[in-house]
Amino acid sequence: MRVTDIYNKKQPVISMEFFPFRDEKTEQGFNTVVDDLALLNPDYLSVTFGAGGSTKDGSFQTVKTLAKDKNLPCVAYIAGYGLGPDQIIDVLDQYKELGIETIFVLRGDKPKGQDFIAHPDSFTYASDLIAFISEHYDFTLGCAGYPEGHVEAQSLEQDLEFLKLKVDNGARYVVAQYFYDNEYFFNYVEKCRKIGINVPIIPGIMPVYTIKMTRALSKICGTALTAPLLEKMEAVDAEDKKAVLDLGIDFSVDQCKGLLKQGVSGLHFYTMNRSRSTKEIISRLRQDKTLL
Ligand SMILES: Cc1cc2nc3c(=O)[nH]c(=O)nc-3n(C[C@H](O)[C@H](O)[C@H](O)COP(=O)(O)OP(=O)(O)OC[C@H]3O[C@@H](n4cnc5c(N)ncnc54)[C@H](O)[C@@H]3O)c2cc1C
Repeated sequence: MRVTDIYNKKQPVISMEFFPFRDEKTEQGFNTVVDDLALLNPDYLSVTFGAGGSTKDGSFQTVKTLAKDKNLPCVAYIAGYGLGPDQIIDVLDQYKELGIETIFVLRGDKPKGQDFIAHPDSFTYASDLIAFISEHYDFTLGCAGYPEGHVEAQSLEQDLEFLKLKVDNGARYVVAQYFYDNEYFFNYVEKCRKIGINVPIIPGIMPVYTIKMTRALSKICGTALTAPLLEKMEAVDAEDKKAVLDLGIDFSVDQCKGLLKQGVSGLHFYTMNRSRSTKEIISRLRQDKTLL
Protein backbone atom coordinates (compact mmCIF):
# COMPACT_ATOMS: atom_id res chain seq x y z
CA MET A 1 0.00 0.00 0.00
CA ARG A 2 1.43 3.32 -1.12
CA VAL A 3 -0.07 6.21 0.78
CA THR A 4 0.25 8.53 -2.22
CA ASP A 5 -2.05 6.23 -4.23
CA ILE A 6 -4.68 6.68 -1.52
CA TYR A 7 -4.36 10.49 -1.52
CA ASN A 8 -4.54 10.46 -5.32
CA LYS A 9 -7.69 8.33 -5.32
CA LYS A 10 -9.85 9.85 -2.61
CA GLN A 11 -9.96 12.78 -0.25
CA PRO A 12 -10.33 13.32 2.62
CA VAL A 13 -8.23 10.34 3.71
CA ILE A 14 -8.61 9.11 7.29
CA SER A 15 -5.43 7.82 8.94
CA MET A 16 -4.71 6.78 12.51
CA GLU A 17 -1.38 6.64 14.32
CA PHE A 18 -0.42 4.14 17.03
CA PHE A 19 2.64 3.50 19.11
CA PRO A 20 3.94 -0.06 19.32
CA PHE A 21 2.80 -2.48 21.99
CA ARG A 22 5.48 -3.54 24.47
CA ASP A 23 4.40 -6.90 25.82
CA GLU A 24 1.55 -9.39 25.87
CA LYS A 25 -0.59 -7.27 28.12
CA THR A 26 -0.28 -4.09 26.04
CA GLU A 27 -0.68 -6.21 22.89
CA GLN A 28 -4.11 -7.34 24.09
CA GLY A 29 -5.20 -3.77 24.76
CA PHE A 30 -3.78 -2.67 21.40
CA ASN A 31 -5.76 -5.36 19.58
CA THR A 32 -8.99 -4.29 21.25
CA VAL A 33 -8.40 -0.64 20.33
CA VAL A 34 -7.43 -1.39 16.72
CA ASP A 35 -10.34 -3.79 16.17
CA ASP A 36 -12.68 -1.13 17.47
CA LEU A 37 -11.24 1.59 15.23
CA ALA A 38 -10.99 -0.70 12.19
CA LEU A 39 -14.81 -0.78 12.19
CA LEU A 40 -14.62 2.82 10.94
CA ASN A 41 -12.70 1.67 7.83
CA PRO A 42 -9.77 4.07 8.13
CA ASP A 43 -7.79 4.42 4.89
CA TYR A 44 -4.53 3.50 6.60
CA LEU A 45 -2.92 3.05 9.99
CA SER A 46 0.61 3.88 11.05
CA VAL A 47 3.05 2.80 13.75
CA THR A 48 5.65 5.03 15.41
CA PHE A 49 9.30 4.11 16.00
CA GLY A 50 11.43 4.96 19.03
CA ALA A 51 14.51 7.02 18.17
CA GLY A 52 17.80 5.20 18.73
CA GLY A 53 16.02 1.97 17.81
CA SER A 54 14.41 1.73 21.26
CA THR A 55 11.20 0.19 19.87
CA LYS A 56 12.72 -1.48 16.82
CA ASP A 57 11.35 -4.95 17.57
CA GLY A 58 8.08 -3.74 19.06
CA SER A 59 7.42 -1.46 16.09
CA PHE A 60 8.11 -4.31 13.69
CA GLN A 61 5.82 -6.71 15.58
CA THR A 62 3.09 -4.08 15.72
CA VAL A 63 3.33 -3.33 11.99
CA LYS A 64 3.28 -7.08 11.33
CA THR A 65 0.15 -7.49 13.46
CA LEU A 66 -1.63 -4.75 11.51
CA ALA A 67 -0.41 -5.55 8.02
CA LYS A 68 -0.31 -9.35 8.11
CA ASP A 69 -2.53 -10.65 10.92
CA LYS A 70 -5.26 -8.04 10.48
CA ASN A 71 -4.63 -7.33 6.80
CA LEU A 72 -4.96 -3.56 7.32
CA PRO A 73 -3.18 -0.92 5.20
CA CYS A 74 -0.18 0.13 7.24
CA VAL A 75 2.68 2.64 7.20
CA ALA A 76 5.85 1.96 9.18
CA TYR A 77 7.85 4.81 10.74
CA ILE A 78 11.57 5.06 11.17
CA ALA A 79 13.33 7.62 13.38
CA GLY A 80 16.97 7.70 12.44
CA TYR A 81 18.47 9.41 15.47
CA GLY A 82 21.53 7.51 16.65
CA LEU A 83 21.30 4.73 14.07
CA GLY A 84 24.06 4.04 11.56
CA PRO A 85 23.39 3.19 7.89
CA ASP A 86 23.67 -0.58 8.53
CA GLN A 87 21.11 -0.43 11.31
CA ILE A 88 18.76 1.61 9.11
CA ILE A 89 19.15 -0.97 6.34
CA ASP A 90 18.46 -3.75 8.82
CA VAL A 91 15.15 -2.13 9.86
CA LEU A 92 14.09 -1.28 6.31
CA ASP A 93 14.91 -4.70 4.89
CA GLN A 94 12.60 -6.24 7.47
CA TYR A 95 9.77 -3.92 6.42
CA LYS A 96 10.43 -4.54 2.75
CA GLU A 97 10.26 -8.28 3.31
CA LEU A 98 6.97 -7.82 5.13
CA GLY A 99 5.57 -6.07 2.04
CA ILE A 100 5.43 -2.57 3.53
CA GLU A 101 5.60 0.04 0.77
CA THR A 102 5.34 3.35 2.65
CA ILE A 103 7.82 4.56 5.26
CA PHE A 104 7.37 7.74 7.30
CA VAL A 105 10.83 9.12 7.95
CA LEU A 106 11.83 11.12 11.03
CA ARG A 107 14.96 12.26 12.68
CA GLY A 108 13.62 11.60 16.18
CA ASP A 109 15.17 13.01 19.34
CA LYS A 110 18.02 11.90 21.55
CA PRO A 111 16.63 9.19 23.85
CA LYS A 112 16.50 10.20 27.50
CA GLY A 113 19.23 8.58 29.60
CA GLN A 114 22.88 9.52 29.56
CA ASP A 115 24.22 6.16 28.46
CA PHE A 116 22.85 6.40 24.92
CA ILE A 117 25.67 6.66 22.41
CA ALA A 118 24.77 7.57 18.85
CA HIS A 119 26.42 5.68 16.00
CA PRO A 120 29.24 7.88 14.62
CA ASP A 121 27.73 7.72 11.11
CA SER A 122 24.15 8.37 12.16
CA PHE A 123 22.07 10.82 10.14
CA THR A 124 21.91 14.39 11.43
CA TYR A 125 18.58 15.38 9.90
CA ALA A 126 15.55 13.64 8.47
CA SER A 127 16.39 15.10 5.05
CA ASP A 128 19.71 13.17 5.05
CA LEU A 129 17.93 9.96 5.95
CA ILE A 130 15.29 10.54 3.27
CA ALA A 131 18.03 11.02 0.67
CA PHE A 132 19.71 7.80 1.84
CA ILE A 133 16.50 5.76 1.74
CA SER A 134 15.47 7.19 -1.65
CA GLU A 135 18.80 6.11 -3.05
CA HIS A 136 18.59 2.54 -1.75
CA TYR A 137 14.89 1.63 -1.74
CA ASP A 138 11.67 1.98 -3.68
CA PHE A 139 9.50 2.92 -0.68
CA THR A 140 7.06 5.81 -0.84
CA LEU A 141 8.29 8.22 1.81
CA GLY A 142 6.53 10.68 4.11
CA CYS A 143 7.91 13.26 6.52
CA ALA A 144 6.83 15.50 9.39
CA GLY A 145 5.95 19.20 9.17
CA TYR A 146 5.41 21.75 11.94
CA PRO A 147 2.74 24.42 11.40
CA GLU A 148 3.98 26.35 14.45
CA GLY A 149 7.64 25.66 13.65
CA HIS A 150 9.71 22.84 15.11
CA VAL A 151 10.75 23.46 18.73
CA GLU A 152 14.45 23.71 17.78
CA ALA A 153 13.93 25.79 14.65
CA GLN A 154 15.35 29.30 14.50
CA SER A 155 12.31 30.48 12.55
CA LEU A 156 9.29 29.04 10.81
CA GLU A 157 10.72 30.25 7.48
CA GLN A 158 13.96 28.34 8.03
CA ASP A 159 12.07 25.26 9.18
CA LEU A 160 10.04 25.46 5.95
CA GLU A 161 13.24 25.49 3.90
CA PHE A 162 14.26 22.27 5.65
CA LEU A 163 10.84 20.80 4.94
CA LYS A 164 11.38 21.67 1.28
CA LEU A 165 14.70 19.83 1.43
CA LYS A 166 12.92 16.73 2.79
CA VAL A 167 10.46 16.88 -0.11
CA ASP A 168 13.21 17.58 -2.67
CA ASN A 169 15.09 14.57 -1.30
CA GLY A 170 12.13 12.26 -1.82
CA ALA A 171 9.28 12.76 0.69
CA ARG A 172 5.97 12.45 -1.13
CA TYR A 173 3.58 13.57 1.61
CA VAL A 174 3.75 15.52 4.86
CA VAL A 175 1.90 14.84 8.11
CA ALA A 176 1.69 17.92 10.28
CA GLN A 177 2.30 18.17 13.98
CA TYR A 178 -1.00 18.78 15.76
CA PHE A 179 -2.23 22.30 16.49
CA TYR A 180 -5.27 23.77 18.21
CA ASP A 181 -5.89 26.72 15.91
CA ASN A 182 -6.59 25.90 12.27
CA GLU A 183 -5.14 29.21 11.15
CA TYR A 184 -1.66 27.88 11.94
CA PHE A 185 -2.26 25.04 9.51
CA PHE A 186 -3.84 27.11 6.75
CA ASN A 187 -1.02 29.69 6.89
CA TYR A 188 1.54 26.90 6.91
CA VAL A 189 0.11 25.24 3.81
CA GLU A 190 -0.01 28.59 2.04
CA LYS A 191 3.66 29.22 2.84
CA CYS A 192 4.59 25.70 1.73
CA ARG A 193 2.86 26.17 -1.62
CA LYS A 194 4.61 29.49 -2.13
CA ILE A 195 8.04 27.90 -1.83
CA GLY A 196 7.14 25.02 -4.13
CA ILE A 197 6.15 22.26 -1.69
CA ASN A 198 3.34 20.67 -3.66
CA VAL A 199 2.81 17.29 -1.98
CA PRO A 200 -0.25 16.53 0.22
CA ILE A 201 0.04 18.12 3.68
CA ILE A 202 -2.15 16.37 6.21
CA PRO A 203 -3.29 17.99 9.46
CA GLY A 204 -2.59 15.99 12.62
CA ILE A 205 -5.43 15.83 15.13
CA MET A 206 -4.67 15.35 18.81
CA PRO A 207 -7.81 15.24 20.94
CA VAL A 208 -7.50 16.21 24.59
CA TYR A 209 -7.23 12.89 26.43
CA THR A 210 -6.24 14.19 29.85
CA ILE A 211 -5.50 17.72 30.99
CA LYS A 212 -2.10 16.71 32.30
CA MET A 213 -1.07 15.00 29.06
CA THR A 214 -2.28 17.90 26.94
CA ARG A 215 -0.26 20.42 28.96
CA ALA A 216 2.87 18.26 28.99
CA LEU A 217 2.76 17.37 25.29
CA SER A 218 2.18 20.96 24.22
CA LYS A 219 5.53 21.90 25.76
CA ILE A 220 7.38 18.98 24.19
CA CYS A 221 5.79 19.37 20.76
CA GLY A 222 5.69 23.17 20.64
CA THR A 223 1.92 23.28 20.18
CA ALA A 224 0.24 26.38 21.58
CA LEU A 225 -2.69 25.84 23.91
CA THR A 226 -4.97 28.47 22.43
CA ALA A 227 -7.22 30.70 24.53
CA PRO A 228 -10.52 28.97 23.54
CA LEU A 229 -9.06 25.57 24.44
CA LEU A 230 -7.45 26.80 27.66
CA GLU A 231 -10.75 28.30 28.74
CA LYS A 232 -12.47 24.93 28.33
CA MET A 233 -9.61 23.08 30.03
CA GLU A 234 -9.73 25.41 33.01
CA ALA A 235 -13.50 25.08 33.34
CA VAL A 236 -13.55 21.27 33.47
CA ASP A 237 -12.81 19.10 36.52
CA ALA A 238 -9.46 17.57 35.49
CA GLU A 239 -10.24 14.43 37.56
CA ASP A 240 -13.53 13.82 35.75
CA LYS A 241 -12.21 11.56 33.00
CA LYS A 242 -15.42 11.45 31.02
CA ALA A 243 -15.93 15.22 31.10
CA VAL A 244 -12.33 15.75 29.92
CA LEU A 245 -12.71 13.25 27.07
CA ASP A 246 -16.00 14.86 26.04
CA LEU A 247 -14.36 18.28 26.02
CA GLY A 248 -11.61 16.91 23.78
CA ILE A 249 -14.09 15.26 21.42
CA ASP A 250 -16.22 18.39 21.08
CA PHE A 251 -13.16 20.54 20.45
CA SER A 252 -11.73 18.16 17.83
CA VAL A 253 -15.08 17.79 16.06
CA ASP A 254 -15.27 21.57 15.65
CA GLN A 255 -11.64 21.73 14.59
CA CYS A 256 -12.06 18.94 12.01
CA LYS A 257 -15.21 20.56 10.62
CA GLY A 258 -13.22 23.76 10.04
CA LEU A 259 -10.46 21.81 8.31
CA LEU A 260 -12.80 19.73 6.16
CA LYS A 261 -14.71 22.80 5.06
CA GLN A 262 -11.43 24.15 3.66
CA GLY A 263 -10.93 20.93 1.69
CA VAL A 264 -7.97 19.33 3.51
CA SER A 265 -6.57 16.15 1.92
CA GLY A 266 -7.08 14.10 5.05
CA LEU A 267 -7.22 13.91 8.83
CA HIS A 268 -4.48 12.10 10.71
CA PHE A 269 -5.49 11.06 14.24
CA TYR A 270 -2.92 10.70 17.00
CA THR A 271 -4.86 7.95 18.79
CA MET A 272 -2.40 7.45 21.68
CA ASN A 273 -3.60 3.84 21.44
CA ARG A 274 -7.07 4.79 22.66
CA SER A 275 -10.23 4.35 20.64
CA ARG A 276 -13.10 6.29 22.13
CA SER A 277 -12.20 9.84 21.10
CA THR A 278 -11.13 9.08 17.54
CA LYS A 279 -14.16 6.85 17.06
CA GLU A 280 -16.63 9.40 18.29
CA ILE A 281 -15.03 12.30 16.40
CA ILE A 282 -15.17 10.43 13.08
CA SER A 283 -18.69 9.13 13.70
CA ARG A 284 -19.91 12.63 14.44
CA LEU A 285 -18.20 14.07 11.36
CA ARG A 286 -19.75 11.35 9.21
CA GLN A 287 -23.21 12.45 10.27
CA ASP A 288 -22.72 15.26 7.77
CA LYS A 289 -22.15 13.61 4.41
CA THR A 290 -20.98 16.88 2.89
CA LEU A 291 -17.98 16.76 5.26
CA LEU A 292 -16.87 13.13 5.39
C1 LIG B 1 3.52 13.12 12.49
C2 LIG B 1 4.69 12.96 13.42
C3 LIG B 1 5.09 11.67 13.77
C4 LIG B 1 6.19 11.49 14.62
N1 LIG B 1 6.58 10.20 14.91
C5 LIG B 1 7.70 10.00 15.63
C6 LIG B 1 8.20 8.68 15.84
O1 LIG B 1 7.62 7.69 15.39
N2 LIG B 1 9.34 8.53 16.57
C7 LIG B 1 10.03 9.61 17.07
O2 LIG B 1 11.07 9.41 17.71
N3 LIG B 1 9.59 10.87 16.89
C8 LIG B 1 8.45 11.09 16.17
N4 LIG B 1 8.03 12.38 15.95
C9 LIG B 1 8.75 13.50 16.55
C10 LIG B 1 9.98 13.93 15.75
O3 LIG B 1 10.93 12.90 15.69
C11 LIG B 1 10.59 15.16 16.44
O4 LIG B 1 9.74 16.26 16.26
C12 LIG B 1 12.03 15.49 16.05
O5 LIG B 1 12.49 16.49 16.96
C13 LIG B 1 12.18 16.06 14.66
O6 LIG B 1 12.06 15.11 13.71
P1 LIG B 1 12.02 15.54 12.15
O7 LIG B 1 11.99 14.31 11.37
O8 LIG B 1 10.94 16.53 11.92
O9 LIG B 1 13.45 16.25 12.06
P2 LIG B 1 14.15 17.19 11.00
O10 LIG B 1 13.32 17.40 9.79
O11 LIG B 1 15.52 16.66 10.82
O12 LIG B 1 14.22 18.59 11.78
C14 LIG B 1 14.73 18.66 13.09
C15 LIG B 1 15.18 20.09 13.38
O13 LIG B 1 16.37 20.37 12.64
C16 LIG B 1 16.20 21.48 11.79
N5 LIG B 1 16.87 21.14 10.53
C17 LIG B 1 16.45 20.27 9.58
N6 LIG B 1 17.36 20.18 8.60
C18 LIG B 1 18.38 21.01 8.94
C19 LIG B 1 19.62 21.34 8.33
N7 LIG B 1 19.99 20.81 7.16
N8 LIG B 1 20.43 22.23 8.96
C20 LIG B 1 20.08 22.78 10.14
N9 LIG B 1 18.90 22.50 10.77
C21 LIG B 1 18.07 21.61 10.17
C22 LIG B 1 14.69 21.66 11.64
O14 LIG B 1 14.33 23.01 11.39
C23 LIG B 1 14.20 21.18 12.99
O15 LIG B 1 14.29 22.21 13.94
C24 LIG B 1 6.90 12.61 15.13
C25 LIG B 1 6.48 13.90 14.78
C26 LIG B 1 5.40 14.09 13.92
C27 LIG B 1 4.98 15.48 13.55
